[in-house]
Amino acid sequence: MSGDVIVIGAGLSGLVAALELERAGRSVTVLEAADRIGGKVLTRDVDGHHVDYGAHWVGGDQTAVLDLADELGVATAPEPRRRRGADELFAAAGRVLRYHGQVPPIPAREWLPVGLGIAGLDVAVRRSRSTPLPVLDAWRPGEHDMSNEIGDRLFRSAYGRDILTCFYRLIFGADPDEVPARAALEYLRAAGSLRAIAEVRDGAQERYFVDGAGALVAAVAQQLSSEPRLRRPVTAVRSDGSGVDVVTEDGTLRASAVVIAVPLPRAADIDGALPAGDRMRNSRMGEYAKTIVVYDRPWWREDGLTGTVLDVDGPVQMVVDGNPGAASPGVLVAFSGGRAASDLFSRSDRREVVVAELVRLFGAHAASPRLVDDITWSEQPWLGGAPTAIPPYGGIFEPADLTTGRVHWAGTDLADRWPGYLDGAVRSGRRAAAEIIGGLTPPAP
Ligand SMILES: Cc1cc2nc3c(=O)[nH]c(=O)nc-3n(C[C@H](O)[C@H](O)[C@H](O)COP(=O)(O)OP(=O)(O)OC[C@H]3O[C@@H](n4cnc5c(N)ncnc54)[C@H](O)[C@@H]3O)c2cc1C
Repeated sequence: MSGDVIVIGAGLSGLVAALELERAGRSVTVLEAADRIGGKVLTRDVDGHHVDYGAHWVGGDQTAVLDLADELGVATAPEPRRRRGADELFAAAGRVLRYHGQVPPIPAREWLPVGLGIAGLDVAVRRSRSTPLPVLDAWRPGEHDMSNEIGDRLFRSAYGRDILTCFYRLIFGADPDEVPARAALEYLRAAGSLRAIAEVRDGAQERYFVDGAGALVAAVAQQLSSEPRLRRPVTAVRSDGSGVDVVTEDGTLRASAVVIAVPLPRAADIDGALPAGDRMRNSRMGEYAKTIVVYDRPWWREDGLTGTVLDVDGPVQMVVDGNPGAASPGVLVAFSGGRAASDLFSRSDRREVVVAELVRLFGAHAASPRLVDDITWSEQPWLGGAPTAIPPYGGIFEPADLTTGRVHWAGTDLADRWPGYLDGAVRSGRRAAAEIIGGLTPPAP
C-alpha cells in the first residue's frame, strides 16, 4: 500500500483533492506524469518578471479559488485593464477602433445583430438545463454544421458570426462548429453567463495573481506532507472489492481509493479509467496558444492604451498587458484559440506573424520587441490542449457519469461551477475529496 489514497495528476484540482484528504487525516500519494506540477498553470520568469503562459485571471464569483488564495496568502490584485481614462482597441472587418467603456463604437446597424445575438445566447444559456433542446441534443459531428444552431440562429450577420467565432476561440479554444451547442450553453451557464466570462468588473478577469498563478499551485503543494512524485505517468487503474491497483512504469501501487485528476481526453490513455462509451473516449481538448512579446517599456500606456485588444480579424483573438504591475519591461500577451491557433502554429514564421499583427493593431512601436516566446497547449505532453475537454456531442460532463466504487474524479472538466477555470479545478478537487471523506470509500483495512 503506497498511501491510503492515490491522486493521479498534480494540477490544481489534484493538489486541492490531496490537501483536503490530508486535512481529513488521510494519507495521500500524488503521482504526476510531467516533470513539474501545475498542469495548465505555468508561470515562467521572463526578464525577471512572472508571466503566465497558462491560467492568468480570477474574479467575479469564483469564490472557491479566491478564498483558497486568501487562505494561503497568495496575493491577487485588481486587473488594471479598465484604468480610468485608458482606451482599448477593437479590430474587426479590417478596422482598428479605439474606445473606452463597454461597447466599441460600431455603427448601430452592424452592432444590433451582435447585441441581439448575445442577448439570445444568454436566454438560451438560462434555459439550457430546464428546457429540452432536442435539436441541439441530437446533433452529432458530421450531421450538419453546428454553427447553424447557435451561429446562424442567434447571430444573423456575417459580422456577428465573426465575433461569435472570436468568443468561442477565446472561451473554448475551438470554433463554433466544433463545440456541441448543448455543451456550449451548459458551459456558459456553469459560469453564470457570457458576461461573467468576458467581463473584468465582477467577471472572470477581475484580478490577476501578483506572482503569477504558479504561486497558488506552489502554495497548495507546500501544504502537503510529501511532494508529488514527478515523471510517474499512470498507465492503468484496476479496482476490485478491497482496493485499487494503480499501474505506473515503475511498478504497481495499491490504495483504498484513487482520485483521477487528469484532463478527460488524457484519461482515455489510462487503461481501465474511463467507462465504455464514445462520449468520454472521443472528447478532445481545445487548441490554445499564447505568444509573449517583450518590449523595453510598455509604450502603449504612454499612448493612453491599456494594451487590451479584442481582435476578430487576426491570427490572435485577444492581446493584454502581461506585466501590468510594473513599469518595465513591457509585455504583451497575445491569445489564439481554435483553428486560428492551429493555423498559427503550423507556420515556422509564427512569431513574426504575431509581431506584424501587433504592428497593425498598435503601430510602429510594436515592431521591435526584445524577446518573443510562445506556447501552444496542444503540444504539451499529458495535457494535449486547453482550456477544457470538449465532448463530441451532448452536454458537458458530469462526475456521476464516471465515479464508480473506489475511483473518484476531479479536474476542472468535471466542475459544477466554472468548468474550464481554476475555480472549477478547486471545486472539483474538493468534491472528489469529500466523496472519499464522506465515507463513499472506506479506508483500507
Ligand atoms: C493558456 C491558458 C489560459 C488560461 N486562463 C485561465 C484564466 O485566466 N483563469 C482561469 O481560471 N483558468 C484559466 N485557464 C484554465 C486553467 O488553467 C485550468 O482550468 C486549470 O489549471 C485545470 O486544472 P486541473 O487540475 O483540472 O487540470 P490540469 O491543469 O490539466 O492538470 C492535470 C494534470 O494531470 C497530469 N497527467 C495527465 N495524464 C497523467 C497520467 N497518465 N498520469 C499522471 N498524471 C497525468 C498532467 O500532467 C497535469 O499536471 C487557462 C488555461 C490555459 C492553458
